[in-house]
Amino acid sequence: MTLDRTARERLVRALADTMIAHADELTGLDQAIGDGDHGLNMKRGFEAVLATLPGLADKALPDMLKAIGMTLVMKVGGASGPLVGTFFMELGKSLPEQPARTELVMATDKAIDAVKARGRSDAGQKTLLDVLVPVQTVLAEGGDAQAIAAEAAHAADRTTPMLAIRGRASFLGARSIGHMDPGARSVSLLIAAAVATLEREVNS
Ligand code: ADP
Ligand code: MG
Repeated sequence: MTLDRTARERLVRALADTMIAHADELTGLDQAIGDGDHGLNMKRGFEAVLATLPGLADKALPDMLKAIGMTLVMKVGGASGPLVGTFFMELGKSLPEQPARTELVMATDKAIDAVKARGRSDAGQKTLLDVLVPVQTVLAEGGDAQAIAAEAAHAADRTTPMLAIRGRASFLGARSIGHMDPGARSVSLLIAAAVATLEREVNS
């Protein structure tokens, strides 16, 4: 997978645009089972990322991902910033400049482990990991762009009946059941945007 400067800038804009466009929806989800700041948190973080363009896209892919992660860790208040930021930073540390699919699989696996360590969490607890983990499995099994995007959407939906065991939503106990996890939704949107932008590269 080779991403030239134009493709890298397109990717950054697609990720940021989807978070900005869905800020109200994400805030609504967080109002139901959290403190109602998730949409604003992600929007603020990705606006800060956008503000680092065009220089950001001049960087090689690994450095660009690390820079995105650092901005998110620094600018996003709330639990999601350090977690999503860690994912990008770790991906940047593990990926070569022109990753083959196997290298993408290995790097996403390491990035998920870093998120689990940072959040002291795992799949099954109604968090963004409930999207990251199953989508990574589809990636590892060779799924194409369409399969990856479909799994991201389904995985976010599957958090609705789950009981929250980590994060603010866990304070609600059984009342967390019946609402989609906001972080799971935002990660599914980020994956959908990335896949739509990189469809040709992902399928090659
Ligand atoms: P906060 O909960 O601090 O207000 P946000 O509202 O921005 O932060 O983000 C909430 C999201 O963060 C949750 O929906 C969940 O997906 C994710 N999250 C929270 N805590 C954890 C954790 N320990 N591990 C993984 N994800 C978590
Ligand atoms: Mg919140």
